[in-house]
Amino acid sequence: MSATVENRWHEAGLRYYAYSWYLRQRFGERIQKVSLDAKFTCPNVDGTVAKGGCTFCDNRSFSPSRREPIRDITDQLANGMTRLKRRYKVDKFIAYFQPATNTYAAVDKLRPLYEQSIDHEKVVGLSIGTRPDCVEPDVMDLLEEFAGRTYMTVEYGMQTIHDRSLDWMNRGHHHDATVDAIERSRGRGFQICLHVILGLPHESHADMMATAAEVARLNIDAVKIHNLYCVKNTKMADQVASGEVVLMERQEYISTLVDFLERIPANVLVERTIGDAPPDYFVGPSWCLDKSAVLRAIDDELVKRDTWQGKFCEVETA
Ligand code: SF4
Repeated sequence: MSATVENRWHEAGLRYYAYSWYLRQRFGERIQKVSLDAKFTCPNVDGTVAKGGCTFCDNRSFSPSRREPIRDITDQLANGMTRLKRRYKVDKFIAYFQPATNTYAAVDKLRPLYEQSIDHEKVVGLSIGTRPDCVEPDVMDLLEEFAGRTYMTVEYGMQTIHDRSLDWMNRGHHHDATVDAIERSRGRGFQICLHVILGLPHESHADMMATAAEVARLNIDAVKIHNLYCVKNTKMADQVASGEVVLMERQEYISTLVDFLERIPANVLVERTIGDAPPDYFVGPSWCLDKSAVLRAIDDELVKRDTWQGKFCEVETA
């Protein structure tokens, strides 16, 4: 991507570097991600690093593809595209391996799955969601190979830089695993995206801003941010019910998110600013369910404060 595009979001009247805008500039039209489920599990579920998974995790709530009957990748693509075309005026897609850990297999199993997804004529890119401790050297080489063939992002679940919070959520890795994955990912041709959660229990505002500062220091390409939210049938649902975990109020989240955006570099793509899940799976906070209203409120907060992404970032960008 050219530096020109990175700098133009200001001129387009945006206050942060929105991924949807970036994709439109890059591909000349609206692009949607199609969620694909290759039926992977996760080393944090099957006992390899831990059992039970992250306290907030029910993969069915994260991704439409895991709520549907098992189909092969080509069928899932066709089905997802039909649904998205009906909902949006869109004709090009990014194949998004979303639920669970999408690098958790041998290269000879991964290759045909990724291959099938990019073979479709309407697919312009590939996105792989995974854990930072689950990218073996030969898998990293495979990701690099696919990045040479199509636009590609790899999403690492960082969540926070604070090891005590990672322990709290039963993550099964610490922040050093994220730093290691990023260093091994550099220069391989794919965009590096980090997932971040705001509002974790026992994290102060200063703790969350420390995560923002680390995102800035790590010199990555993109970030996906959401508030801690709760879905049914998880350990966290019990913790929320008992009052052990208190979820952020709407205005507190919006204000914290804007503080976070101010501290990350202007050239980091912002892929997501709010979390949500289908109402059937959702516990709270209820304000998340009106995603459009929250997105408008984030914009309003940026305008009210006359601020923007990177305003207080202390890291110089090229
Ligand atoms: S690493 Fe991801 S898939 Fe695995 S338990 Fe945690 S949230 Fe779920």
